[in-house]
Amino acid sequence: MYRTHTCGELRSEHRGSRVTLAGWVQRSRDLGGMTFVDLRDRYGITQLVFNMDINRELCQHARKLSREFVIQVSGKVAERSNKNPKIPTGDIEILIEELNILNPAVIPPFTIEDETDGGDDLRMKYRYLDLRRPIMKKNIMLRHRMAQEVRKYMDSQGFIEVETPVLIKTTPEGARDFVVPSRMNRGQFYALPQSPQTFKQLLMVAGYDRYFQIVKCFRDEDLRADRQPEFTQIDCEMAFVERDDLLDAFEGLAKHLFKTILGVEVNYSFPKLPYDEAMENYGTDKPDLRFDMLIHDLTTLAKGKGFGIFDEAEYIGAICAVGCSEYSRKEVDAITAFVMRPQIGGKGLISVRINSDGTIKSSVDKYYQQEDLQSWVDMAGARPGDLLLLMAGNRHATLKALGELRLEMGNRLELRPDDLYKPLWVVDFPLLEWDEGTGRYYAMHHPFTSPKLDDMDKFATDPGKVKANAYDLVINGVEIGGGSVRIHDENLQKLMFKNLGLSEREAKEKFGFLMNAFRYGAPPHGGIAFGFDRWVALFAGLDSIRDVIAFPKNNAGRDVMIDTPSAISEEQFDELGIRLTD
Ligand code: ASP
Repeated sequence: MYRTHTCGELRSEHRGSRVTLAGWVQRSRDLGGMTFVDLRDRYGITQLVFNMDINRELCQHARKLSREFVIQVSGKVAERSNKNPKIPTGDIEILIEELNILNPAVIPPFTIEDETDGGDDLRMKYRYLDLRRPIMKKNIMLRHRMAQEVRKYMDSQGFIEVETPVLIKTTPEGARDFVVPSRMNRGQFYALPQSPQTFKQLLMVAGYDRYFQIVKCFRDEDLRADRQPEFTQIDCEMAFVERDDLLDAFEGLAKHLFKTILGVEVNYSFPKLPYDEAMENYGTDKPDLRFDMLIHDLTTLAKGKGFGIFDEAEYIGAICAVGCSEYSRKEVDAITAFVMRPQIGGKGLISVRINSDGTIKSSVDKYYQQEDLQSWVDMAGARPGDLLLLMAGNRHATLKALGELRLEMGNRLELRPDDLYKPLWVVDFPLLEWDEGTGRYYAMHHPFTSPKLDDMDKFATDPGKVKANAYDLVINGVEIGGGSVRIHDENLQKLMFKNLGLSEREAKEKFGFLMNAFRYGAPPHGGIAFGFDRWVALFAGLDSIRDVIAFPKNNAGRDVMIDTPSAISEEQFDELGIRLTD
């Protein structure tokens, strides 16, 4: 037996027992007569003591131990005179009688501590060392626990986990595919799934009316903090359901995770916010509901008074920063600089101070009477002591910028605490999105999303106005999942492909197998996919999904630890019948 206990297990009640532990040397302190070693494993840290007076030879041996050596020790558990209340094993130490060096280690390139001196690149290159840090262990354990709770809950609700293939044909999620050449079918390629979308729909046709899968998906997109070329979804599908049956079922999963993982009881139905309202009030389709600060439309009130920028604008909107009327010039300038960042795209910011005596002072006083300003204040529900912040321009872009400003002000005013969770459903997304570049419509979600049946007549007149029976789960401004009621009728599916500019031939080539399946009795169905990495990151209070993935890729899509993507041999190219061009 390598060990009788783990390094996180021993307490005062084990005093006097003889134990054997194994693990890594976290640190070693040589105090002359005594050498103290902190021994670490996945479960915790235990202090070992080597005493010169008791066993000189052993103590000298212990002095050779350095960081990350793998050792096995045996000895007696003793009460510590100098207790460490910060760790669970802090009341005891082990008086060592035997030491066995299982494997020496070279000095690690960074310290294996929560506060490490290792930069991102180094940590990624030596990810196996990074993963030894307690903070990383915590993330990986959280991920594990969430996966187990997902499985437990879904199983309890009659969902069955079915694996779907990884070598498939192009998928409908609209990103670029990763492709894999086929040796046995020269000149032909598999695509890696952007999601199991078509397979889960086929499972519904096959009669498996409640499916889920914790599954890797692959999208060849430019990367950001919350994106990885391969990521994990909790993919779900149900048959014989309407939208609200779907939302209820998946809300149940979210509530289960809140409760079991965070100990947070959510005993209300998640609000359902239509997409149009989300955009109008929050400037985004993933609103953070931890605070109000809604966007107010001042277009009619502020236009036509001779202030050129407003007069020319399609839209003028404002948010009210409660209690900020005394912001200094410098603070207002900083907020203005924020909205003018290229990624926010604002052209400027107008501020209106509502002084504590009720008088109003703005940066555009020469164009507006006090009554005008008062009408803005009333519209925005501002009160003495508040600060109105206005932006103007193209409607969509201005709303988006105001949405960003709202979040920024939320941060400044500390209205977005980490331990408060505000889930909601955003519903009724547009079905189609017009793309100026290619001059055609794209499916906002994917082409199998059902339109709202009341909107069918708009297909002929104004396809951009057709709403989708689609929904997103949003928590604290993070899109955690998205799904829809699906089209299950061959003819409606054909109409959808037509609106997406897909010829019948193209549609058949790409998705003929699904259309064909619909002819053999497809039940009404719908589903969702949750971004598992994002959900774990949210629960861990982290922005980057990389910290909750054991072996992630860097921003250039590289795994710097195994050094890939990498070249393949001439033989491999020959076998595949592929040649690289310059
Ligand atoms: N397959 C979709 C996605 O990956 C989710 C869904 O519609 O279920 O976004």
